[in-house]
Order: sequence, then structure tokens, then C-alpha cells
Amino acid sequence: MNNRQLFQQHVAQTSPAPVGIEIVKAEGNYLYDVDGNRYLDLIGGISVCNIGHRHPAVVQAINDQADAYLHVMVYGELVQSPQVKYAELLAGHLPASLDCVYFTNSGAEATEGALKLARRATGRTEVICCNNSYHGNTMGALSVMGDEYWRNAFRPLLPGVGHYDYNSMELLAAINEQTACVIIETVQGEAGVIEPDTNWIQQLRNKCTATGALLIFDEIQCGFGRTGKLWGFEHYGVVPDVVLLGKALGGGMPLGAFIASHELMQVFTNNPVLGHITTFGGHPVCCAAGMAGLKALLDEQMTDGVADKEKLFHSLLIHPAIKAVRSKGLLMAVQLQSAEMVMHALQRCMAKGLFSDWFLFAPDCIRIAPPLTITHDEIRHACEILIASLDT
Ligand code: PLP
Repeated sequence: MNNRQLFQQHVAQTSPAPVGIEIVKAEGNYLYDVDGNRYLDLIGGISVCNIGHRHPAVVQAINDQADAYLHVMVYGELVQSPQVKYAELLAGHLPASLDCVYFTNSGAEATEGALKLARRATGRTEVICCNNSYHGNTMGALSVMGDEYWRNAFRPLLPGVGHYDYNSMELLAAINEQTACVIIETVQGEAGVIEPDTNWIQQLRNKCTATGALLIFDEIQCGFGRTGKLWGFEHYGVVPDVVLLGKALGGGMPLGAFIASHELMQVFTNNPVLGHITTFGGHPVCCAAGMAGLKALLDEQMTDGVADKEKLFHSLLIHPAIKAVRSKGLLMAVQLQSAEMVMHALQRCMAKGLFSDWFLFAPDCIRIAPPLTITHDEIRHACEILIASLDT
């Protein structure tokens, strides 16, 4: 059997139609397959590779840390400098109230940790979240996912969870003294890129403060410069009680985090002690890689060009088949007439060396979330292919 057949046979499959190209290398803004094809990566591993693939500083940090130590002990017992230094760097680039980092292995685990933190800190059990939201696929995260099609087969889920429309007054009205937390994506990703109304998100902050509910912003997809600012919430003048990070956090390695105040996070150290446990969370190699990645993002000022690149995409994505282009920075959704058209266009793009994808709750949209390092020439080239893929 060749690798493609082995992939189908021995690697658990969840997609009825996986992309299935065999990757041999990824570098900068490109993927390379076993047949010698090169693909311009328009989705950056779904918002992971914000600084491009295999940034030299990240590769160096991984090698250096591998030379020193790999896993040594479960989370939170030994002082491991990659964790400590990365937590310090993150805290230094977040509002002062978000100064204590709990590192996890993934975004979903960050969601789980934050939900536990909210229950433990408030003594309440009710959770408010949004329709069309995505926070991960573990049971707690699935419970706060906003789509019945994906939730229903896995019931019973967490009790006490209410789903409301993003940007709706109903959501604000539902928050009360029984609410442990409200969890939202700062900018909704899988919904097909939906921004919060500034007024709404500010009212949300006020209502949470007034009722003592924790406000959790999921920045797993929209953080790390994706929207043109380091954190999505910087656009709206609000600060959450807990922020969730993942994806680009690890510079290409698996890493997640939930971040809150030192005071809030202390609830995990008593009654019960070890209130949240992980073996691998904050793995030293992942933290070293992530820190090198964040430094590269900052030093090379990668967020600075995002707004201009977003504008360039908008100026080029004009075609009768395009119903709308929604974006916040380089998190973009190109809405077509139907999901079938999207699938057809994606296949044609792939054949021309352009790699893209659709959205979980917006299958009629093409996803654009390239490395922030994509150049203006590459944007022009990508849009030429994309537009041609829409012609019949
Ligand atoms: N939250 C958001 C907004 C996401 O986009 C994702 C993943 O796509 C997650 C959480 C879950 O992260 P992970 O797949 O690392 O568990």
C-alpha cells in the first residue's frame, strides 16, 4: 500500500472527502507535495501559521530546546524556563489583568480549563454562548459549540448551557446572577467571519461585570495579529476576564492557553488542590517554539501590513459569483451562491496551486487566512486563480 492508502486505512478518518495530498515540505507561504507540486497556502493551517511555515527562528528554538530537555515532569511542578519566559512575554503584551497563563496542549483544552475556572471561581454552573460559535471538540467545548448538527449526536452534553445569537440583545438579557461565564469568539471564525458590534461587546462587558459572570474571549483563531492587531479585542475597547489562545500560539507546534488574573487563577490551587492537571500542557519545546514565533511576529512587525493586504484582497475579489466578502484583517470569508460552488472552486484552485478551504458553519464561503507574511504579488496571484476558478 502507498502512503495515501495507508492514510485511509490506518489513520482515523473523519472527513468523507479528505484533501489527501501528501505533503513533503512546507516553507514560508508554500506547501509542497510528493508529486512535486507547490501550493500557495491561503489558509495557514487554519490560522496557525501566521508567521509562515518553518520560520527559521522557530526551527532554531525547537532544535535548541531539544538539545536541552524534552518532557521532564507534569504541569506546574518544575520551573521550566521556556514556559516561564513565554508566560512573561505573553503577559507583557496583554492588559495588566491578564497576567497568569495556564498552558494546555490545544485550543479545546483551553476552553475546558476556562469553563472549569469559571465554575470554580463563581460557584455557578450556567454558561452562555453563541449560535455558530466554535470553541473545540471535547465534551465541554462541544457543549458551547453553536451548531445543533454537530452537537446532537453526542448528547448528553453539559447542562445549563444557553445558546444565543451573536450580537443579539437576547444574549445580553440572558446574563444574570446564575451565570458563571459568557464565552464568545471575539470575531466569529467558523460562522464565516462575523464581527461584534462595538456597542454590543461593550454592553456585554458591562453586563458581565454587573452580574459577576466571567467574560471569556476565544482568540484561538483571531489572535496573534490575524485581525490586524495582536489581539482581536483591541479593536473594540474591551478586556475579557479570561482569554483563550491556541493555533498560532505555538509557532507551528501544539500549544493552547487560558489566561486570567493571578488572583482568579489561584482558585485551582485549593479545594481541590491540583484543580486542573495536564501531563504535557506547556511542553518546553512547544513553549520555546511559540515564544520564538511571537518574537518574530513582533520584531518583523507582521501585523503592520495586514490592513493593506486585506484591502488588496477586497479590491481584487470582484466577480458576479461572489455574494459578499467579509473580513477582519486577514481572516476573510468569500461568500458564493452555494456550498457546491465553493467545493468546485476549491478543487479548481488546488489544481492551479492554490490551497484553501471552507468554513464549518458557512460552507458557502471560501476561507482566506494566509500567513500574515503573504506578499502583495502572492495576493494578486491568489486572486487571479480564485477569480478564474469561478468562471464556468
Ligand atoms: N476555538 C476556536 C475559535 C477555533 O477556531 C478552534 C479550532 O479551530 C478551537 C477553539 C479549538 O482548537 P483546537 O482544534 O486546537 O482544539
